[in-house]
Amino acid sequence: MIYFKTQEEIELIRQSCLLVCKALTEVATMIRPGITGTELDQAAEQLIRDHGAKPGFKGYNGFPATLCISKNECVVHGIPADEPFKDGDVVSVDCGVYMNDFYGDAAFTFALGDVDEKVMELLRVTKTSLYKGIEKAVSGKRIGDISFAVQEYCERKHRYGVVRELVGHGIGRNLHEAPEVPNYGKRGSGPKLREGLVIAIEPMVNLGRREVKQSADGWTIITRDHLPSAHYEHTVAVGQNKADILSDHKPIEAAIAANPNVNEVSSKDERAVISGLN
Ligand code: MG
Ligand code: MG
Repeated sequence: MIYFKTQEEIELIRQSCLLVCKALTEVATMIRPGITGTELDQAAEQLIRDHGAKPGFKGYNGFPATLCISKNECVVHGIPADEPFKDGDVVSVDCGVYMNDFYGDAAFTFALGDVDEKVMELLRVTKTSLYKGIEKAVSGKRIGDISFAVQEYCERKHRYGVVRELVGHGIGRNLHEAPEVPNYGKRGSGPKLREGLVIAIEPMVNLGRREVKQSADGWTIITRDHLPSAHYEHTVAVGQNKADILSDHKPIEAAIAANPNVNEVSSKDERAVISGLN
């Protein structure tokens, strides 16, 4: 069952998403080699609670933390740990917030220090593919148009592995609602998009093969070939002519620009897609 939202409900989801991005901006300011996931998690939780909201992931199916922190070969759902990050790590941080009965969800992958250029390119392509997907989130198109756009760019154009086992999702009063939003699929297939549909689009893309497995902690998803993975996510409302992006990466990116330990992730392709979305 797909729940279509009123404009009022969409505004509440936006507030939750903006708080998620505030928490991710705090992460972007703090993150550096030497800091731990646990420290970032505590800061994010404090910030969310200071705004009268609740972490969306903590306790969800028993997940123990506010942030999912997934480093290098970890794709998603990593548990924040006490091991300090190292120069050269890529760290995906996913955050959810529950406020005023609605969830918000967004994610960003941070590149710390001297990251291999091949991995930087994976990050740029994955982030660009997110906007290629968002470009299709308009009334009259179908979920498969989003899926195809992401897969086409990451897999067919850049030869990366697009994860199959984990997908984007509807979001609202529940963190995960119908429909599923896969990062692979056929153009013109799947549920029809119309105004009121709010979805999280979240490409998870591997440098090597697409296959993943669950690690022994019961949560963390890792690549089978142990090559790095990237993850970027926005929550968007389907629009009549263009998608309304409810989360906001811009403050995160401004914090990265001001943080000498983190590399900016930006490409010509991405800028071209984003300029068409505005
Ligand atoms: Mg997320
Ligand atoms: Mg999500």
